[in-house]
Amino acid sequence: MTTRTNLLDLTPSEAERVLREFAEAHGAGAYRGSQTARHLWTAPVATFEAMTELPAAFRALLAEHFTMPRLELTAQQTSTDGTRKFLFRMHDGQSIETVSIPDDDRVTFCISSQAGCPLACAFCATGAMGFARNLTPSEIAGQVRELALLDPPLRATNIVFMGMGEPLMNWAAVDRVLTILNSPQGFGIGARHITISTVGWLPGIQALAARPEQFRLAISVHAPSDALRATLMPVNIKFPLDDVIAAAADFDRRVTFEYVMLGGVNDQPEHAKMLASLAKRCRAFVNLIPLHPGGSMGFTPTGPSEIGKFARTIRAQGVEVAIRKSRGTDISAACGQLRVERLARGRPATADEDREVEIA
Ligand code: SF4
Repeated sequence: MTTRTNLLDLTPSEAERVLREFAEAHGAGAYRGSQTARHLWTAPVATFEAMTELPAAFRALLAEHFTMPRLELTAQQTSTDGTRKFLFRMHDGQSIETVSIPDDDRVTFCISSQAGCPLACAFCATGAMGFARNLTPSEIAGQVRELALLDPPLRATNIVFMGMGEPLMNWAAVDRVLTILNSPQGFGIGARHITISTVGWLPGIQALAARPEQFRLAISVHAPSDALRATLMPVNIKFPLDDVIAAAADFDRRVTFEYVMLGGVNDQPEHAKMLASLAKRCRAFVNLIPLHPGGSMGFTPTGPSEIGKFARTIRAQGVEVAIRKSRGTDISAACGQLRVERLARGRPATADEDREVEIA
């Protein structure tokens, strides 16, 4: 039996070309290929069978030669503020999560790019799970597709790569996914509404900068000196802050700094001043992120008035700063938490997952 092609791993234009050639080769007319391609992303359906404007015989042929793999939705939670978290299981038993955050007329999806994460940031639940594997393009873009297949559908206006994993370590897949998200034949989401969040993985920043679209870059800074940052984010040893800031300064589009406020760790006035001077070097906008009110991974949150003071110190240096609204705190705010809770509740887990639960 021939291997079936996963259409969701292709860019929209590749998929349309393959499908048009396939349709012609089977005497169905190339336009049948284009009709099929529409149902991958722009008007997604769950199965070939559901492409009802196509003749039944052609749908059967498609199913013989191609796949459109689904992600299995195994858990979901809805916050009182409308934030929704989804846990998806993939074919090999690995789980990832996706979050949908409504805000006025925007709906932002926070998507995962890896199962687990190898970078072990001290404040992060995903980092504590260890690394399982990179996600494929169809598993990353598939998160957006699955939510569009819900009844009623959930459609993203904005995408942030801030779920599980470091997206720029999985550049080959993320590169493709950016095309799927942005292309009019894909989800048609404007590049300015798509943000890649990175710890500062330099080769990936350069690859992203080489793309012509205006995708946004967010850098997880979290500490304004190498000494402190290395204790919170081991990746700082490989890519020190100076190099990351230089790469951000070379990135000729808008850059945001992400800075999680850890009580007594990185929230002192001198930290605010150092952070402001880093932001000035690359004209970055600073986003201060309050830690989950219950704390996380042994850290305690900085109080709201201290966060306000920290923000004013930054602003006084002429740097734009915002305090991120806490969303979905009643359904576990920190990345990876839904997965940890679900696994810990005793669902049959693989040996790998058992290990991750212990660590988490
Ligand atoms: S914060 Fe991001 S990069 Fe760091 S361990 Fe968590 S998922 Fe990985």
